[in-house]
Amino acid sequence: MIEGDTIAALSTPLGEGGIGIVRISGPKAIPLAEAIFHPSDRIPLSQVPTHTLHHGFVVSQARRIDEVLVSVMRAPRTYTREDVAEINCHGGFLATQAVLSVVLKQGARLAERGEFTKRAFLNGRISLDQAQAVVDIVKAKTKLGLEAAVEQLGGRFSNAISRIREQIGGLLAQIEVEIDFPDVEAETGVVTAPLTELANRVELLLAQAEQGRIVREGFTIAIIGRPNVGKSTLLNALLVEERAIVTPIPGTTRDTVEEEAAIGGIPVRLIDTAGLREPTDTLEEAGIERTNAAITRADLLLLVLDRSAPLDEQDHQVLQRAWKKPTLLVLNKSDLPAAIESTPSGPWKSVHGISAKLGSGVDRLSQAILELFLGGKVQSWGAIFLLNTWEQDLLGRAHGHLDQAITAARTASSPDIIAEELRSAYVVTGELQGVDVSEDVLDQIFARFCVGK
Ligand code: GDP
Repeated sequence: MIEGDTIAALSTPLGEGGIGIVRISGPKAIPLAEAIFHPSDRIPLSQVPTHTLHHGFVVSQARRIDEVLVSVMRAPRTYTREDVAEINCHGGFLATQAVLSVVLKQGARLAERGEFTKRAFLNGRISLDQAQAVVDIVKAKTKLGLEAAVEQLGGRFSNAISRIREQIGGLLAQIEVEIDFPDVEAETGVVTAPLTELANRVELLLAQAEQGRIVREGFTIAIIGRPNVGKSTLLNALLVEERAIVTPIPGTTRDTVEEEAAIGGIPVRLIDTAGLREPTDTLEEAGIERTNAAITRADLLLLVLDRSAPLDEQDHQVLQRAWKKPTLLVLNKSDLPAAIESTPSGPWKSVHGISAKLGSGVDRLSQAILELFLGGKVQSWGAIFLLNTWEQDLLGRAHGHLDQAITAARTASSPDIIAEELRSAYVVTGELQGVDVSEDVLDQIFARFCVGK
């Protein structure tokens, strides 16, 4: 248990709400709350049982500040594993700020970003990835991201890592026996199979982490094509399904329209680009430039053609550009008689005949987009992990060391080399578990939090 000072912060968003909660945590949390609280039942907070709720008034210099409910939670069964008092005040900027300032005057220090959760980690209540899951839950933009974060809070990733680490430790012990007692009949080759199995499991974790990244951050899709092929109509058709969570992105120009939505529960940012064509004047040139920028930013392109009109010069220009990004070819207006006989060839991932106007074929297009990104590898959403780049990097390094160990075992190198790689993998997986995490990394992680969490 790490003894810290007593910290306090507003744990609900600023602004008008039903209630606002001022959270206090630390060794003095309860006496501090007691000093500013007049309970209706006159029982001092220091004498109430743990995990109970009390009605009364916050007072300062004999003046009532707010009518409140105070919850008292004694260590260790609390969010931070320290004593915690939470004052439920009337929502609203002034009431909550007034209560918070009384608490601070009484001697609490204003908590830093994520400091409550950081204490929960430092006091051993949650692992580092669980701490991060807390941020992901708070920041979740979609139901899917939320589900994954809640799963992670259950410690699924840390459990997977500790199992892997244990096995690395076991193999290492086996190899070290060989180093210490070279006479014992054993072959480095016998560890190849378990090593390979371990490496495969780490590889699967990496794939699940990549999918987690997509679920968390979403991806960007640019819709490109000459004017009038139906790009805006397609954008709307793709958005229509989950319109409720579509948010306009401010600061877009009239040349590109950006909207955020969810396809199959994954956040996507759709960019409807200005018609792609050769610039005829400087204004249009600027539009084309923005289109090119959108293409650069996109993870996926939807190249739209109007199937009811013969391909024209502008279409050919669009088609001829060698897209560096994965592209789906969309033949729109398939509700009208076709004028394009054969599908233009290109590096398309797949080709979709749709009618954006009638909405037909749009579902299948959404499905194709999802499959492309999730690679069909993950069977259920319970099987993805939300890791940050730092963790993905560590996981990649663990995989690298296991790979080196396998190579060494296969080529019957000296057991020292295998042992060294295993030792490195052991250290790296330890870092992933939050063993010996540097102060820098901790700061980086908790800076993602808001004050009060
Ligand atoms: P953009 O310039 O590429 O964004 O094209 P718009 O989305 O503005 O569409 C151009 C015109 O084509 C509009 O009149 C649309 O109503 C029409 N349109 C778009 N999609 C379809 C479709 O699937 N079928 C038919 N018949 N018309 C469509």
